[in-house]
Amino acid sequence: MPSEIRMTQHLDPRSPWVLSTHDLGRRAGSMREVSLVLPAPADLGVDMIGVPKDADVGLDLRLEAVMEGVLVSGTARAPLTGECARCLDPISSEVVVDLQELFFYSDEDVSEEDSLLDGELLDLEPTFRDAVVLALPLSPVCTDDCLGLCVECGIRLADAGPDHRHEKLDARWASLQGLVIDNDQEK
Ligand SMILES: [Zn+2]
Ligand SMILES: [Zn+2]
Repeated sequence: MPSEIRMTQHLDPRSPWVLSTHDLGRRAGSMREVSLVLPAPADLGVDMIGVPKDADVGLDLRLEAVMEGVLVSGTARAPLTGECARCLDPISSEVVVDLQELFFYSDEDVSEEDSLLDGELLDLEPTFRDAVVLALPLSPVCTDDCLGLCVECGIRLADAGPDHRHEKLDARWASLQGLVIDNDQEK
């Protein structure tokens, strides 16, 4: 059974992305600001680019008790690695996302997409994951003006230079060229 499937709603307080709201005491208006560095969860990315597992994710968060629950807002900053969609060179960069999520005290009057507190605990990982996936480029490029690869031979066009081109030979000329080469070899 895959471990990602949570059989109950109970959160594991040892999970790095599970945060305690204990010191807010459910008093609307109480607030806490925290800065954290958490390990990136696994499998966070799209085809060409993503956040490496266990990379440092820097979080600046504000946890605020409101009437219905705990409002978490702030920013997360994570490294990205991937490859250029045009030339396939490795890319490393960074993603910075805004986070905002209201974790409800009670499951009354909430929809399925809403997040719930488990006692005093909340799990920030789904919020972070959704924000990062939305922010990732579908076609990441190494530079905005990346020329990509030659469709004929696959060389990186930036390396090949502006004069790189292939003679367009049709089949007849190609076989003629073969004859010329054969003749050369006979000499
Ligand atoms: Zn590129
Ligand atoms: Zn080429």
